[in-house]
Amino acid sequence: MTTETSFLAQVDAAFDRAAAYTSHDRTLLNQIKACNAVYYISFPLRRDDGTIEVIHAYRAEHSHHRMPTKGGIRYSMGVNSDEVMALAALMTYKCALLDVPFGGAKGGIRIDSNAYSVGELERITRRYAFELWKKNFIGPGLDVPAPDYGTGSREMAWIADTYQSLSGGDLNAMACVTAKPVNQGGIRGRNEATGRGVMFGLREACRVTEDMKALGLTPGLSGKRVVVQGLGNVGYHAAKFLSEEGAILVGLAEYEGSISNPNGLDLEMVVAHRKATGSILGFPGAKDLPNSLAALELDCDILVPAALENVITAENAPRIKAKIIGEGANGPTNDAADQILRGRGVYILPDFYLNAGGVTVSYFEWLKNLSHVRFGRMERRFEEQSNRGILDVIGRASGQVLGEDEMLKIAHGASEEELVNSGLEDSMIEAYHEIRAVQKGLGKDIDLRTAALVSSINKVASSYMALGIFP
Ligand code: NAD
Repeated sequence: MTTETSFLAQVDAAFDRAAAYTSHDRTLLNQIKACNAVYYISFPLRRDDGTIEVIHAYRAEHSHHRMPTKGGIRYSMGVNSDEVMALAALMTYKCALLDVPFGGAKGGIRIDSNAYSVGELERITRRYAFELWKKNFIGPGLDVPAPDYGTGSREMAWIADTYQSLSGGDLNAMACVTAKPVNQGGIRGRNEATGRGVMFGLREACRVTEDMKALGLTPGLSGKRVVVQGLGNVGYHAAKFLSEEGAILVGLAEYEGSISNPNGLDLEMVVAHRKATGSILGFPGAKDLPNSLAALELDCDILVPAALENVITAENAPRIKAKIIGEGANGPTNDAADQILRGRGVYILPDFYLNAGGVTVSYFEWLKNLSHVRFGRMERRFEEQSNRGILDVIGRASGQVLGEDEMLKIAHGASEEELVNSGLEDSMIEAYHEIRAVQKGLGKDIDLRTAALVSSINKVASSYMALGIFP
């Protein structure tokens, strides 16, 4: 049962707001909004000390309009059916928006991953994968998990190995899960993809001069003051790529607290300090703030919440000073806060757009697994040789022959990682302008979240309408 403040209720409220701008029949909208399947699992774990514990886990498949369904697996004490259903719905809207041909799904195990040994985590993960397999909730054409909060490529490798051993010689078995280690069927660039996508999305938004002018900002990422909450996969990489583009990290938050320095924080040094001391607090030259939420209220241009949902609420929204919020996490801004911030003219890049880099590159990995060949393998050398030939001819004709370093830089054929990053960049840029076009079509006062959802709803609707069932 959901309550008014549940995560799913928040996602559904945003859906309803956007649905009002479409002309689809109510039954079709109800079908798009509904979660198609939820699987609840509990199983016993024998802990290293011999005691037995019951583990609770879920997998929600929000939409089967495209198969397979796709979405991460989260290890967190906050996992419940409401949360996985909300996150699965966001995956449907995300995939539709980015033209990634999957339905949305999400899984979760209610554990604190720090409280278990590696051996225990492996037993939990393999058993979870087995339970999913038993009920057809995993498979290259059925449902393809990936990492989320508390999981990474190690867990994905365990899942792939478990699935492969159960699937009796299925040639495509490795496509059952994405974000695997590269030497286990993974793809280069996937680990960094979500954070890199956050940077691409924010960079594109900051390039639009008229939007920046309306916010009282200059165009471009360079010099923008950024605060990032959560230094995990998404937050760390977003902070890294944003600083590489010239943004200044003026605040960082982890669960133990936050730090700030208006002159900028060196990300790698903060990470090294945390590794050495167990905390980001006490970082030389930075000011310690009382808790992790305090960073959200720092004076900055761009705020990137990249930890968990529901951190920006009606309580702290009036004190948020950022002009742009880039939602790296899923659901960081609750519905009440969203309305307050919109009223104040804060520009919010919604989660199911901004963090879509992960699923986009997961799609590339899935394609790689099904085609059984690394991107660029067939054409890289050929491309380089033809480019060299063209440059040679031009060089001889113009009398300007290139040196070998310059030649290699221009002529080289694209590697897998370059193709992945380029595909990701293109997807994020295209989707951003698509959302803005929808926004312009709907009228000036429409926020990006609503415009993006209208776009997603229309795409899912067109797929259902092709079945000829709905009016
Ligand atoms: P992660 O487990 O790698 O990192 C999360 C980090 O947040 C950890 O370092 C944790 O200590 C920190 N954290 C926890 N509570 C905090 C708090 N109160 N304040 C500050 N920091 C806190 O997880 P992740 O994969 O980076 O996922 C983060 C968010 O991004 C989630 O909402 C997830 O759904 C979303 N997301 C992840 C991906 C992906 O590819 N991993 C893709 C899309 C969206």
